[in-house]
Amino acid sequence: MLDKKGRSIDYLRVSLTDRCNLRCVYCMPEKGIEKKSHEEIMRFDEVESIINACAVLGIKKVRFTGGEPLIIKGIDKLIKHTASIPGIKDISLTTNGMLLDDMAKGLRNAGLKRVNISIDTLREDKFKKITRLGDIKKVFKAIEKCLSLDMVPIKLNAVLMKGINDDEIGEFLRLTMDNPIQVRFIELMPIGEGLKYFESCGMKVEEVLKIHPELIPIKDDSKVASVYKLPDAKGSVGLISPISCKFCSECNRIRLTSTGTMKPCLHSQEEINLKPYLNDEKKLIEVIHDAVYNKPEEHHLETECKSDTDRMMFQIGG
Ligand code: SAM
Ligand code: SF4
Repeated sequence: MLDKKGRSIDYLRVSLTDRCNLRCVYCMPEKGIEKKSHEEIMRFDEVESIINACAVLGIKKVRFTGGEPLIIKGIDKLIKHTASIPGIKDISLTTNGMLLDDMAKGLRNAGLKRVNISIDTLREDKFKKITRLGDIKKVFKAIEKCLSLDMVPIKLNAVLMKGINDDEIGEFLRLTMDNPIQVRFIELMPIGEGLKYFESCGMKVEEVLKIHPELIPIKDDSKVASVYKLPDAKGSVGLISPISCKFCSECNRIRLTSTGTMKPCLHSQEEINLKPYLNDEKKLIEVIHDAVYNKPEEHHLETECKSDTDRMMFQIGG
């Protein structure tokens, strides 16, 4: 459907949990996280009702995220159900990759075609420092498994951070030479724990082009990434710049949090609680319609250097 600015909204990001098996420094505090009770977190049948209603309104693409979506038992069943909803043409998932090696085959059989794996460094010790709890070997194994299962192109998400991983840009680019991998450099956003790092580590993704002028721009359907490739590479490189070159006028997405609120814009405080309407499909569709129609026009991160939302990324779904 179209919102009041005429943007076509066809993409829903669904956060299944605010829990995570890692604690990335720019996303989640190490301690003191208030855990939501199981009653507060939506059940699969509730998630499915909302995806159904969104599909009636023209949502075609669904991405599951979190927190860490793969810690949710039975996610393959949810994917299978979602794949059978009329109108849903594309299902994807964003994961930290820790549990993916074992789960990839089941997920692919359930209907998942592709994955985005978050990996901000290729070095074992640095990975541990950034994620506090992660084991990079598991992520490498997961990438190999997805390649062997032909779940391609695999998108590798790296939040680009000055003084932390900007020395590894060349190594990331080299991964795209022989594999159907898209490495995506993402600008750090001043949201939640990210605020602590934004001033000292935030950098523009266009720096990648300055350091690597050999990157060739290529055509791609992505609404958010500018896509390039190295000469003769099998894979590609995406640059995602929510700060320096924001893509609000092209934004086609809405978000559903794990507690059942719809967020028409990641950085706005506006949230619509859908739980009261779960037993009334007509009303649910009407409420989602109004939320989408009134989607905020744009965020102001580039001037205000702070997100308007009080929620953190792991509570919204990145
Ligand atoms: N746990 C999964 C993962 O890490 O892929 C999914 C949820 S995580 C919130 C989704 C994405 O948000 C990750 O790629 C992560 O790097 C990104 N992210 C988290 N905080 C961010 C921030 N402040 N700025 C930019 N990206 C951020
Ligand atoms: Fe967890 Fe993903 Fe946030 Fe890292 S970025 S703490 S893996 S939700």
